[in-house]
Amino acid sequence: MENAMTETLLIVEDDHEVRRFLHDALAEAGYRVAEASTAAYAESLARETNPAAILLDLGLPDRDGMQLLRALRDNGAYPPTIVLSSRDGDTDKVEALDAGADDYVTKPFSTAELLARIRLALRHARAKPIVDEPTLEAGAIKIDQARHQVVVEGRNVRLTPIEFRLLVELARRAGKVMTHKQLLEAVWTGKSQQVHYLRVHMQALRRKIEPEPSRPRWLTTEPGIGYRLRVD
Ligand code: CA
Repeated sequence: MENAMTETLLIVEDDHEVRRFLHDALAEAGYRVAEASTAAYAESLARETNPAAILLDLGLPDRDGMQLLRALRDNGAYPPTIVLSSRDGDTDKVEALDAGADDYVTKPFSTAELLARIRLALRHARAKPIVDEPTLEAGAIKIDQARHQVVVEGRNVRLTPIEFRLLVELARRAGKVMTHKQLLEAVWTGKSQQVHYLRVHMQALRRKIEPEPSRPRWLTTEPGIGYRLRVD
């Protein structure tokens, strides 16, 4: 795996079983692994090891994982963070993503899924910002920002200005989940809009882009969280 040997991943998880599973899976994949079971130790380990990414359980014994996320950000540490979440923790996931976490996996997750998310987060962290790129490419979707043109699998698609902005925001973070709040703020630039509004525009966008709008291949829903433009 490219670069994996030189990269340290920090696991922050108080559940011994989960931590051991993560350690074995990541070490097997060639990463260097640092482990912490408390937020306090994680904070000092993050300083010592300068991890390429952090896997963060939100329910820690000494402090909330969210507080740790914010503390790391306040201290200038900004490695991509993947939240390890339980199934009932949708609010936590949304809060963590809005606070700058990159992604989440829901327990129980497979090793393959976790490794894919890590590779994606590391790739995003390495990539240059593409905000001002005139053209964006996400899988089969090509976007010409200057001309406001969208081509999907060689087919020209006409979008409204809102649909276009929605697609651009998702394409700029292709593969990554975006929360409802992040999309609403990015597309409607601060004006308060309801999630319902977003859903309506997403449906319209899917009808224009997806071969089968009721079973989206690219514009997928993350229930209770937001949307993701899949590129795999
Ligand atoms: Ca926990």
